[in-house]
Amino acid sequence: MKYIFVTGGVVSSLGKGLAAASIGTLLEHRGLKVLLQKFDPYLNVDPGTMSPYQHGEVYVLDDGAETDLDLGHYERFTHANLSQLNSLSSGQVFESVIKNEREGKYLGATVQFIPHVTDEIKNRLKRTTENNPDTDVIITEIGGTVGDIEGHLFLEALRQFALDVGSENVCFIHVTLLPMVKAAGEIKTKPTQQSVAKLREIGIQPDIIICRTEHDLDDDNRRKIAMFCNVKRENVVAFRDVKDTIYECPIDLRRDKVDRLVVDSLGLKSDTPDLSKWQSFVDRLVNPTHKTTIAVVGKYIELNDAYKSIYESLTIAGAAHDTAVEVIKIDAEDIEKHGAKAIIGEVSGILVPGGFGERGIEGKILAAQYARENKIPYFGICLGMQIATIEFARNVCGIEKANSTEFKKKTSHPVISLQEEQLGVKDLGGSMRLGSCESILYPGTKSYELYGGVDTIHERHRHRWEFNPAYREQLEAAGLTIASVSKAEGLVEIIEIADHPFFVAAQFHPEFKSKPNSPHPIFSGFVKASLEHS
Ligand code: GLN
Repeated sequence: MKYIFVTGGVVSSLGKGLAAASIGTLLEHRGLKVLLQKFDPYLNVDPGTMSPYQHGEVYVLDDGAETDLDLGHYERFTHANLSQLNSLSSGQVFESVIKNEREGKYLGATVQFIPHVTDEIKNRLKRTTENNPDTDVIITEIGGTVGDIEGHLFLEALRQFALDVGSENVCFIHVTLLPMVKAAGEIKTKPTQQSVAKLREIGIQPDIIICRTEHDLDDDNRRKIAMFCNVKRENVVAFRDVKDTIYECPIDLRRDKVDRLVVDSLGLKSDTPDLSKWQSFVDRLVNPTHKTTIAVVGKYIELNDAYKSIYESLTIAGAAHDTAVEVIKIDAEDIEKHGAKAIIGEVSGILVPGGFGERGIEGKILAAQYARENKIPYFGICLGMQIATIEFARNVCGIEKANSTEFKKKTSHPVISLQEEQLGVKDLGGSMRLGSCESILYPGTKSYELYGGVDTIHERHRHRWEFNPAYREQLEAAGLTIASVSKAEGLVEIIEIADHPFFVAAQFHPEFKSKPNSPHPIFSGFVKASLEHS
């Protein structure tokens, strides 16, 4: 097994995650089997409880792990199927050290940062290795910036790990920023030198330095960085700001042959990558023939990262239909104040994403009504499915008080409720339905057709509330189609409206399963319907 560790220096938000993901893409195109993971030094056990304002979207894996959005990049840029093991935070590390200490597992020893905490980190790497015996390379991104107090233990653990497994099996890649000082008209390499010095202080000598830069990196600067940072000149790689799309990143990094440097440094045999399919995907993204406009009606719309996978899935689906997808971000609360027509206006599709809590709910319901009545393609995801159900119950079935018990605990018509409430259980567990689940698709529905006529699907979940089966018959009689139910419990997974160009809403999160050249079928169908509508 070979290991790549990606650290960052100088500033945060350097695109370390994209650099790691892109290296994954390139190695995969060389025929290697890769696995990507993230070590995050923060103290939260996972980002599941963090506000999207703090952390962007929570990316959910098949096994239900709630992870950093960088894992979304990893899964979209490669075919790696990630698990709980691939997302480690300081919170998890300390939780397990303290648990071991309480259980007396350290046999009376004084429990210390080194070796107990660092061993815990190394053990995780060993477990990942053991669980993925057919993997060629594990790429681990370390969150944060070199020099952060909280990242120090992770770096120390990696230094030791490299000694344990042999330095010939480990490649350290350090991503830094080369700022341009406008007044001097020069790119500055000093911050990179200092950040590498910081890394070497810990005992880590990077093998490759990836320099984020707005400009080209000339020979002089390459030589300077190489000399001061103690690496070969060709191992200084430029990572330019990509012009149009993040999917250009692997192509940009390939210009300095970063993948060859990596395989050479690790002594791996592999083929020259054929990036033609990836390139043609990028070409379609950059020069689309058509354009369609889709409104995303949400709560965290001012924050790009909050609905990251949804935006990426729309872009990916757009490429499949040779169309640019212009996303109009709409705050649901604005619809409550001014009405759907005034705020949403003329668009070719309306998407209501997932969410928690009461704020903006009535605005989202108005958006679903606007889409249904005006025959505008509608795509509801998780909460977007629940509010579409409420809207249909209220305005088509005439159940005026229809609501979810999430928003109105004592509602007389809980069309969306907790499973415990549906079963009459007193003790509300309040635990979320998380991760992949198998569901049945009903033939004759739009979804059945979109998925290409398969009978069962596997999709990822992250929610507590459910469609209340007590209302199923009444809603179906009024024209709502149930297109899918979970295999185990019969929980409603997809609703549709047949008498509509495209009205599909899913209880699960299809945005976690789109990849370049392989858009999720519902996203693909939605973008196609929007294009036809426009
Ligand atoms: N708040 C809703 C629930 O928990 C929807 C969750 C979501 O959209 N992810 O069921």
